[in-house]
Amino acid sequence: VLKNTGNEIFNSLKELLGQKHQKMLLVTHENPDGDAIGSAIGLGEILRNFGHEVIIVVPNDYPAFLQWFSSDLEILIYERKKNQVKSLLKETDVLICLDFNEPKRAAKMEKKLLEFSKPKVLIDHHPNPSGFCDYSISETEFSSTAELVFEVVKKIGLKDYINYNAAEALFTGIMTDTGSFSHNISRPGPFSVVSSLMEWGIDTDKIHAAIYHNFSENRMKLLGHCLGQKMEVFPEFRSAIIWISQKELEDYDFQPGDTEGFVNYPLSINNIVFSALFIEKKDHVKASFRSKGNFPVNEFSRDHFSGGGHRNAAGGESKLSLEESVEKFKQLLKQYEHQLKETII
Ligand code: 5GP
Ligand code: MN
Repeated sequence: VLKNTGNEIFNSLKELLGQKHQKMLLVTHENPDGDAIGSAIGLGEILRNFGHEVIIVVPNDYPAFLQWFSSDLEILIYERKKNQVKSLLKETDVLICLDFNEPKRAAKMEKKLLEFSKPKVLIDHHPNPSGFCDYSISETEFSSTAELVFEVVKKIGLKDYINYNAAEALFTGIMTDTGSFSHNISRPGPFSVVSSLMEWGIDTDKIHAAIYHNFSENRMKLLGHCLGQKMEVFPEFRSAIIWISQKELEDYDFQPGDTEGFVNYPLSINNIVFSALFIEKKDHVKASFRSKGNFPVNEFSRDHFSGGGHRNAAGGESKLSLEESVEKFKQLLKQYEHQLKETII
């Protein structure tokens, strides 16, 4: 396994990708976000432009606000096209995993990734990669996988193959993973990459509006309901929680992506450093956690909700009922009272 030490990995990757006309399959994590889709389209456009055949596969459906890209690269949804993806995998020369650190994050595709016997490449910015790929580029200081893709592409000599579509997609990844340049931006890196991407003439106003001004009326009303009726704030623990049942989702005609961003709202309350969102799914409860400062939600999620992620943005799940999950969270707050009080923002 080659890891990102020195230039060795970039030289090997250059060799691996340098022979044209290979079949590349790019995969993202489950419930792909702007960074996952942006990285995949960005890298996919560059590799196709260079001369490879590229297919993107995402484990499950993704929201409408990520379906406006100029790129015409095919994005297959594994859940819907299992057989097609299975036969594509047989012909694939290189598998590239983007924006996730362990095969489990690819959900129903996990086994397919592990079984794949030809070269596997990882490009990701989450901590503690499990090492399931032969070439592993994992850089936690990067704001986004998209920013990292740009650097990798430069290092392996493919910068000249960046085009408008790639620049648009990579910008989207950086913009979404930094919450529109509000966090993970303490290094010059993201701005410097964005500045380069602007040279392809991308329309950043248009991209911003396509992501953030593209909601349905129902989604806005669901948000209103959550903030107005469902948010519970615990000032003594500097924490807040929102939870949503299947019934509520149905009432507001839930579409994939509609609850994206909800978990961030409580953090704009003065002195709140920890926010949780629990959403009732068919057979589990999906948990999202966000924090400010040095309160590590990835560790919290790993220890109590079989999850992980970044220090300030993590996810997980619970097999308890929605009510029990919420109760478990509230009980846990007591355990973390000291740490929450001491959190430096
Ligand atoms: P979100 O709350 O938006 O689903 O996820 C926030 C962050 O946590 C993302 O970086 C995502 O990749 C990561 N994440 C979400 N769910 C899980 C999970 O179940 N396990 C792990 N390890 N990471 C997760
Ligand atoms: Mn990311």
